[in-house]
Amino acid sequence: MDFETRAIHEGQEPDPTTGAITTPIYLTSTYVQDAVGEHKGYDYSRVANPTRTALQQCLASLESAEHGIAFSSGLGAVTTIMHLLNPGDRVVLIADVYGGVYRMTSQVYEPKGYVFDYLPAADFEDLAEHLDDRTRLVWVETPSNPMLNIVDIEKAATAAHDAGAILAVDNTFATPFLQRPLELGADIVIHSTTKYLGGHSDVVGGFAATNDPTIAERLTFLQKSLGAVPGPLDCWLVLRGIKTLAVRMRQHCQTAHAISGFLERQPRVDQVFYPGLPRHPGHQIAARQMDDFGGMISFTVESEEEAAALVARTKLFKLAESLGGVESLIELPARMTHASTADAPFAAPPNLIRLSVGLESPDDLLLDLEQALVRSVAGAST
Ligand SMILES: *Cc1c(COP(=O)(O)O)cnc(C)c1O
Repeated sequence: MDFETRAIHEGQEPDPTTGAITTPIYLTSTYVQDAVGEHKGYDYSRVANPTRTALQQCLASLESAEHGIAFSSGLGAVTTIMHLLNPGDRVVLIADVYGGVYRMTSQVYEPKGYVFDYLPAADFEDLAEHLDDRTRLVWVETPSNPMLNIVDIEKAATAAHDAGAILAVDNTFATPFLQRPLELGADIVIHSTTKYLGGHSDVVGGFAATNDPTIAERLTFLQKSLGAVPGPLDCWLVLRGIKTLAVRMRQHCQTAHAISGFLERQPRVDQVFYPGLPRHPGHQIAARQMDDFGGMISFTVESEEEAAALVARTKLFKLAESLGGVESLIELPARMTHASTADAPFAAPPNLIRLSVGLESPDDLLLDLEQALVRSVAGAST
């Protein structure tokens, strides 16, 4: 079945007791057993919950995965995956990794003896030269947050496997509608379901999927043992979000495409980072491994002050962290989402602005940016 159909039906048969077409929210912590150890596959809700099972099956299917594991947040998924490793193991990550992942690696796991090296996206061209036999994991975001860098997933998978490491891809920006990393050779795909998958800025959640039975078994064990599990209501909200993922992503992409072109023509805009633009350095790879280019755009303006002033001038684009919801958002990564990378060699540029292009009318969004780009000159009489 096609993506759109699976997004609505996979793992979500009508409720056998009542026929309810929507998967019930199983608000229960425990399940009555017929006899000791004799139950219907559910004994305690940290271990398993039917609403969570539906989400895991549906999202796994969309990622072309055999196994899906849901978590309490994107970082809940990341920290659980870090427990596949041991102190002394080395991880190679894309340099402009999500700020919260960098905070975790640098301030939580590095002090415990894990080794992290951060590679600029361009260095993934010769990834093999940067891997050694201590490297257990290669961690990629593509498109990356917030620079929208692109990494060739197929090439990265080959290099990682040749070095005896596994490849994990954070697919939060693309979503499985635009890109399916497991089909390209990745071993684990990760999501913050808080973003496009939930899609309505009303839930925090995470997810991981794999086709490797050993990794799946260990992650399922760690999900139960570490306990970063999502509640049933949160699972249900993500399930509902996923049903409209395809139509939402089509519109996010279409509007972002129009806005990226508009920004490129603005004299007050310095550089536009959007993989859909032909002069983006990752455009060819993105065109090959993605079905479209997504709804995230970053751009620079002349100075940090102008960037801070501009994000205060937009009216429809709300000044907020997060992304992937129906509402358009604008933010300054260096001082908001990526403040934790301030001391890193790859800190987000201070004059960088990030947009999450929402589902409002494209014309209204363009008008909003147009008025915000007209700088109010200090001391001018108008
Ligand atoms: C938001 C985000 C995360 C973290 O997810 P949470 O749900 O906020 O814990 C990880 N990776 C990327 C790319 C993100 O945008």
